[in-house]
Amino acid sequence: MKVGIYPGSFDPITLGHLDIIVRASGLVDQLIIGVLKNNAKKPLFAVEERVAMIEKVLGEQYNLPDIQVKAFDGLLIDFAAKEDAAIIVRGLRAITDFEYELQIAQTNHKLNHKIDTVFFTTSVEYSYLSSSAVKEIASFGGDITQFVPGCIVQDIFDKYK
Ligand code: ADP
Repeated sequence: MKVGIYPGSFDPITLGHLDIIVRASGLVDQLIIGVLKNNAKKPLFAVEERVAMIEKVLGEQYNLPDIQVKAFDGLLIDFAAKEDAAIIVRGLRAITDFEYELQIAQTNHKLNHKIDTVFFTTSVEYSYLSSSAVKEIASFGGDITQFVPGCIVQDIFDKYK
């Protein structure tokens, strides 16, 4: 069985992430969405909240293959090995993502040559989209409905009450 890991902060999940999840899930037998605790980044949502939001979003999708959502901390490559993953999935939005992602992918491959990183180029309609932008807009009460799945819009606004 081929397992893929899609890691990230998902603070919060956006339509750009969901697009990668749907596309990547077709490539593997099981996709694990690895939600990085990442307290250093001072996330808006606790890791349990981020996992719950992703699960809520996935619950609304039809015909998705086997997808699991798991929180993790520490080195991604260790988490991937523990889950027996063959690939790590990452999304590339712009050239600015590339340099950073290339370095991480190469480092991870040095640490464990059995695991490869696979990049998905973002769908053009989401190439500008980031969790940070969503948070910025929501903090000023702006309209985020075209950026995140409808079922988590209120969860995001509730954080800024
Ligand atoms: P990070 O892992 O850097 O904390 P995120 O949780 O925001 O960042 O993103 C997780 C992964 O999803 C990364 O590979 C990132 O490039 C990708 N990603 C984020 N936003 C988009 C988008 N709009 N379209 C495609 N991929 C995206």
